[in-house]
Amino acid sequence: MSDAPRVVLATRNKHKIDELRAILAATGVEVELLGVAEFPDLPDVAETGVTFAENALLKAVDVASRTGLPAIADDSGLCVDVLGGAPGIFSARWAGKHGEDRANLELLLAQLADIADEHRQAHFACAAALALPDGTRVVREGRIDGTLLHAPRGANGFGYDPIFLPDGYERTTAEMPADEKNAISHRTRAFQALAQDLAALR
Ligand code: IMP
Repeated sequence: MSDAPRVVLATRNKHKIDELRAILAATGVEVELLGVAEFPDLPDVAETGVTFAENALLKAVDVASRTGLPAIADDSGLCVDVLGGAPGIFSARWAGKHGEDRANLELLLAQLADIADEHRQAHFACAAALALPDGTRVVREGRIDGTLLHAPRGANGFGYDPIFLPDGYERTTAEMPADEKNAISHRTRAFQALAQDLAALR
């Protein structure tokens, strides 16, 4: 058994746990990462915050208080300049129902139909929060800037990836292999910053 600090990641998504393990491994920070699936009685936390940081903290604080272990959580979304930062915290349910990726993307494209290329700037944002049972709270943020296409391209990724062209790249994040996207993603940047806080847990 390792003596690395145990930390709970507030997600039931196995993919997110694997992704975070890879990010932390690359930073050299040693923690034993547990998913909330290992704590079957934990209720889902309502995301009542109005910023990514608030929602990430809500989740991390709740899981830390219920498990008695350090907990981390993230919240992310797409922010479109010409829409004043929307869909933002509503990214997952922009077309109405939570998690309908294609409908969300189609609605956004329709809303931006008349907007010319030079006004289609957007960024993905991620807030990564760490909460300790003693009340300590930290939030780190990461973002990736780009522009939105007029039609989807690529089959990788999820959400708005098929219309997001990162600045300085020719391929959308849905045309990139996962490791290429992960190397530059908002989530990676936020968790790389949080890794310094995790390193201090020892
Ligand atoms: P969550 O933080 O996992 O709840 O993600 C919120 C929503 O933001 C997702 O459902 C997507 O619509 C969008 N989103 C967040 N990150 C990405 C990304 O890396 N690619 C595409 N869409 C994303």
